[in-house]
Formats: sequence, structure tokens, C-alpha cells
Amino acid sequence: MPELETIIGLEVHAQMSTKTKMFCSCDNDAFGKAPNTTVCPVCMGHPGTLPAPNGEAIAKAMKASLALQCTINLSNHFDRKHYFYPDLPMGFQISQYDYPIASKGVLDYSMMDASGQKIADKTCGITRLHMENDAGKLTHRGTTTLCDYNRAGTPLMEIVTEPDLRSSDEAVAFAQELRRLLIAMNASEADMFKGMMRFDASISLREVGTKKLNPRSEIKNLNSFKALEKALQYEEKRLRKAWDKDGGPLPNDITVGWLDDQEKTKMLRNKETADDYRYMPEPDIPPLEFTQKEVDAIAAALPMLPQEKKEQYTKIGLDDAQALLLIDQSALQLIFDAVFEKTKDAKRSSSLVLTQLLGFLNSHEKDVSQGPDSENMLELIGKIDDGTISANAGKDVLEKMIISGKNASTIIEEEGMQQISDDSAIETMVQAAIDANPKAIEDFKAGNEKALGAIVGFVMKESKGQANPAIVNKILRELLAN
Ligand SMILES: [Zn+2]
Repeated sequence: MPELETIIGLEVHAQMSTKTKMFCSCDNDAFGKAPNTTVCPVCMGHPGTLPAPNGEAIAKAMKASLALQCTINLSNHFDRKHYFYPDLPMGFQISQYDYPIASKGVLDYSMMDASGQKIADKTCGITRLHMENDAGKLTHRGTTTLCDYNRAGTPLMEIVTEPDLRSSDEAVAFAQELRRLLIAMNASEADMFKGMMRFDASISLREVGTKKLNPRSEIKNLNSFKALEKALQYEEKRLRKAWDKDGGPLPNDITVGWLDDQEKTKMLRNKETADDYRYMPEPDIPPLEFTQKEVDAIAAALPMLPQEKKEQYTKIGLDDAQALLLIDQSALQLIFDAVFEKTKDAKRSSSLVLTQLLGFLNSHEKDVSQGPDSENMLELIGKIDDGTISANAGKDVLEKMIISGKNASTIIEEEGMQQISDDSAIETMVQAAIDANPKAIEDFKAGNEKALGAIVGFVMKESKGQANPAIVNKILRELLAN
């Protein structure tokens, strides 16, 4: 058996986060809404209606294209892609065929080890990015099929990669980086649970050293990173077995589906010839024409790329895993950035946000949206910094904030957690501690500095942790010096 290498390419569909649909003014946020309530005659394909392209969607597709270092095709247009399916009311999809909005880009991504540290840098070519509208959703119940057209007309970006990926691990790492980039560009929310990002993965094998691409197996409609990884692993194993048996690659392209519950692929189509979608330029929408000046203006205003953001985090002292944790959870990132902005202290910010906040959220089984927001975190930090509570008490307050949903000042007030910073009150406590620990005082006077720790500890215990330790130390030294 010759040594074989695995060739993988992806087609990624990402829903664009626009207010309205791709070609009509229907609400684009159908999540949780009753079936068939965010529809109109345009997205239902009624005769006589005309589609009008969504400028916001075009701008978002362009931002994503530029972030992927693609060339924007200043002249591009929509095409009709014909096929019959019950979730496609028009009988064709409005897509882009030979003149997509963008082509020839690259995305750099990193491979991580199990602990989240970088082990290799990789690059994957982007063949093209084009815009199209999504289809509706079918739900099969026994012998009945239910149609919900709320999703019909949702703006999609389809991003097609070069066959540059060599393993399921690389495919997943690439897809995760692409998701980060689309979110950073505010082009897609890319929420996997809501099906906003879906993958078709093509996989084939070839002998190491050869350049020819063999017929491929295309796995349709994978909607999680786990499914992408498992489906590719399964199909790779299956193709290697088949190569072993048949002495070579697949005789022609095939299309398979992934059965999530059974963790295996099933044959959908055995393609001898390419599908004939009868592409034709969309006659109801004029070609899109941009000037280089318009493209340059969008390029100049692009938000920071995830790779740049990551570099920024590692420069202030976070490790790769911490940086990615923030980039992958935008709500947590907002809090961290606000805390760092206030404290200018990366170590303290990471201890407050990544260790304490995240730790308490996890132990109380809550997610970031259910915990304190950045404003509440900043109030808590203010209370520590102005001496109202000690840093240690701050930890307790934070946990109580997460459990109760109350803010820091309410909890400090209700629980009487204010730190005691009043000099005369502390002096009384320190004097009492000196009187109660004659042995420690004797040791200190004999030259043992450490003996003072026992006195400070005594005061902290008596005050239930509320005495300000800095003031306790100061007064203790004053009293002993007299
Ligand atoms: Zn509509």
C-alpha cells in the first residue's frame, strides 16, 4: 500500500447578521419566532415581485472578503441557480456563479496542543466568497414534512477554500479561525447552536508526491465543529479502506450525508456528471459595480483581526489559551477589556476575569451573560481600590454577585462587609492584640521580625477580616516604637 495523504477543502455557509433579509425587508432574526411569520411575497417567490439587494449584506460580505485578503471584483452580479426543493419557494436560488463578489484570498490559522498552546502556523487559500439567499427549513415528522419559510431569504456568505487542508484537525482549526474572523468583522454572529454557520467538506486521498486531485467525497451540511471533525475522520478511514480494497481512489465524485447520532456517513448521490443548475444571470437585479475608492474606504475602516487582537493580548502577558478564550467569548472579552482599561494591570485583570469571575461562573453553572457585566465588575474594583473592602473580601463579594445577581455596593451594605480603615478603631484592636500576645512581643523585641505576623493575624481574625491590613501594620509599628 503506497503512502497516502488526505486532501480536504471546505465550503462554509455563514448567515450574515443583517436587520433584513437578502432581497426583501422581512425581519432577518427569526430565532424563536412562530413558523412562517417573517415572510413576504418577495421571499415567498410570488409572481410579479422583484428582489432588491440588501446594501448592509453587501457591505458585510465585502468586509469579510477583505479580512480574508481576497480581491474584490469591482464588477460582479447575481445568478439564478435552478433546482427544485420544497424549501425553495422561488424554484431557484439567487446566488453568484462566475462573477462572485470576491476571489483569491488566504486565511492564516494556528494549530494548538491539548493545553491550548500553539504548535504550528498554517495557511489555507480562499478560492472565492459569494453572496446568496438561504432556503427555508423542513421538519420531517413520520410521513409528513413541515415547511417553515422564516429562514428563506436570509443573507448567506459562501466561502470556498482551496484543497489546502491535510487533516480533520486542520479543517477544524481553520473553521474556528474563520468563525473568529467573521465575528470580529461583525459580518456574522456565527452562532453554531442556531445553525448560523454550516460546512460542506470535500475529502479525497492521493499518493504522497503526486499532485493530481482524485475524485472526492463531499460530506453535506455539517453544523458543528464536532460533526466536522468526526465526519472527516470517519470518511478518511472509509476512503483508506476502499483504496486498500480497490487499489486506488474513488472512480467518481460522490455526495454523502453525516448521521450525527450513528456517527457515520451515508451515500446520497453517486455523481457521474456535474449537476446542471442552469445558471443564468439574474435578470431582475442589475450587476453590482464598485469603485476602488469605495473598496479602499471599507478596507481602511476594517475592525481589528482576531490574530491582531491575539497578539495584543499576548503582548500584555496573557498566554495563547487565555487570549483565545477571550476572543472566542465576546461577552467575556468586553469585560476583560473594560477591567484592563481601568486597572492597566494585565495580571490583575486576568486574575479577576479569567480566574475568579470565570471560576465562579463555572462552579455555579452559569454562563457569562448570567453574571455581572463590565459596569458591575468596575464598581466592584472601585470598592477594592478605594479601600471599602479588601481584595480578599472582593472575592467573596464577586461570588455573591454571581449567586444573587445583586451589585457590589448592595452586597457590601447588606452583609456589613466594609473594611475598617478608621485609625482609632484599629488602634484599639491592635492594642488588644498586643496585650493578648505577650510572647510574640517578646520575640519581636528579641529581634524576630516574623513574630509581628501573629499580631496582625490576631487582629484580622478578631475583625473578621475587615480591618485594613496596611493600617494594622502601620499602627502596630507605631505602638511598638513608642
Ligand atoms: Zn420577505
